[in-house]
Formats: sequence, C-alpha cells, structure tokens
Amino acid sequence: MTKVVLATHNAHKVEELRRILGPRLEGFELVGYDGPDPAETGTSFAENALIKARAAARHTGLPALADDSGIGADVMGGAPGIFSARWSGPRKDAGENLRLLLWQLTDVPAEHRAGGFTCAAALVLPATGEEHVETAVWSGRILQEPRGAAGFGYDPIFQPDGYDVSAAELPPVEKDRVSHRAMAFERIVAVLAEKLPRA
Ligand code: IMP
Repeated sequence: MTKVVLATHNAHKVEELRRILGPRLEGFELVGYDGPDPAETGTSFAENALIKARAAARHTGLPALADDSGIGADVMGGAPGIFSARWSGPRKDAGENLRLLLWQLTDVPAEHRAGGFTCAAALVLPATGEEHVETAVWSGRILQEPRGAAGFGYDPIFQPDGYDVSAAELPPVEKDRVSHRAMAFERIVAVLAEKLPRA
C-alpha cells in the first residue's frame, strides 16, 4: 500500500477522514503523525494547512495531507476564522469557544447571522516538492443557542443551508457526506490519486 501521512495528532480526525474518504482511499494507507508540530503562522486556512503538511512531509519523507478549519460569522468579518480553535484562549476549550462566539453575537438578529465552516486540505509530495491546496466552505448560519449533541466543536451552533437542524443534530454519516471537510478532502484525494500510484 502507498503510505500517506495525515498531519494531525488527533486520532479522531484520522478516524473521521477514513470514514469520509472510505473507498476513495483504496490502495493508500493513511497513517497518523507523531512528529513535531510547526507553529501555525499563516494568515489563511490554506497557508496553515500547507505549513502542517510540509512539516509532516519533511519529518516522515512520505506524501502528507493536512487540514486547517474553522467557523466564521460574516457579520464579524469571518472571525473566529483561523483562530477558531483558541478563540477563548490557549486552553482550546471547545465549550468556552462556542459560548464566547454566541455571546459576541448576542444582539445580532437571525437575518444577519450568516456564516460557515471552512476547511483547507493540503497535499505535499516530498519526492517532487509539489504542493496542492483545496478549500471548501459549508455555508449556513450561526444559531442563537446550542442544539444537538453529536459532532464536536461549534457544531451545536451551526445550521447548514438546506437543513432545519444544527450540524450537531445531523446523523454523523450525513455530516460526513456534505461537510466542509468532506468537500475539501474529496477534492484533495482526487489530486492525490492522480499524482500517486495506488499500490
Ligand atoms: P484545527 O484542528 O486547527 O483545524 O481547528 C479547528 C477549529 O475549528 C476547532 O476549534 C474546531 O472546533 C472548529 N471546527 C472545525 N471544523 C469543525 C466542525 O466540523 N465542527 C465543529 N467545529 C469545527
């Protein structure tokens, strides 16, 4: 099998991507990464995804995939954006992050609460130095209060367009089919499949 490293220490993400990509990954073995984490010094999701993929490719010598993702409220100019994971501080507390964003939007009426999740998925091929990034947005709106218990992070306060439930009320298989991460990774794995032989 052709090994591909996924630049995340988060076992939950490796699992989620195996689920999302399913048969598309046939012939590739997705392995976790335990090397050093680079500082995320980029100013966009795409730059930060590339920084993580480059570090994993350099450390392992393997083709590397990485992602960077977050939520944005249009009325806040796209914030929290790349700062989503540490919006309430360096503890990266998901509950605190969600409460802070809700509090910041307290007086914003439903019609001005458009927003979305963004995911940039990056691929770095160390043999040739090639780099690719695919960015996808899952549009919707930020709810007034949390709903649902599935998913993670900001899912309970995000209602995707076309649904009348929050992302945390969607069955996980449905979220995996339509999310920002699903869209970005489907596209980047198509690039991977074109560039690398499956074994
Ligand atoms: P990353 O792991 O550095 O990409 O940080 C992602 C941040 O955005 C975390 O705070 C997540 O909670 C949030 N986030 C990204 N994707 C999702 C999602 O699908 N649902 C809920 N929160 C998400």
